[in-house]
Amino acid sequence: MRVGVVAVQGDVSEHVDAVRAAMKAGGFSGDTVTVRRRGDLAGCHALTIPGGESTTISKLLVRSGVFEDIVRRAAEGMPILGTCAGCILLAKEGDDQVRQTHTKLLALMDMAVDRNAFGRQRESFEAAVPVDGMDPPFRAVFIRAPAITRVWGACEPLARLGDAIVLARQGDLWGACFHPELSGDLRIHQAFLERV
Ligand code: GLN
Repeated sequence: MRVGVVAVQGDVSEHVDAVRAAMKAGGFSGDTVTVRRRGDLAGCHALTIPGGESTTISKLLVRSGVFEDIVRRAAEGMPILGTCAGCILLAKEGDDQVRQTHTKLLALMDMAVDRNAFGRQRESFEAAVPVDGMDPPFRAVFIRAPAITRVWGACEPLARLGDAIVLARQGDLWGACFHPELSGDLRIHQAFLERV
């Protein structure tokens, strides 16, 4: 399998490493492909969208035309895992900041996000979050993290921290407010790859 990693800004190399490690651990053969330009997605069976700065990632994706490619491939059923900024971009609804910065969202998942919900309180922290269907603990790294404030339709919450939803899944689309690519716990990546 070939898994694309959006490589325009953010923690790209960490995503590449985590996907490769999860493939190895799960016994999947395949490799990663960095996605920067139109057409890079063509040979990919799945995609991850890293953390970083959602406004910047969105602008660069729109400018290159990759934004449209992602929306089209998602409609065809391509699995996508978005972490942090990537999770923000997957949402259908953003907060005031998303609107004020005219950040174009991919609008693929039935969820609303608050872009800097945890960032305002503490820039970054680690927490053990219980994830549905996985043995606890799942060590989650939060960096200026968003929160999923609401889900509807086909989107299901899989983990919460306080009042916030921090992991959600809609079919083969996964949005994580934290960074599973940073904690060394590859179970979310493996669950994602199993469906590819
Ligand atoms: N809150 C950031 C944003 O708006 C995301 C932070 C992250 O990806 N670590 O883009």
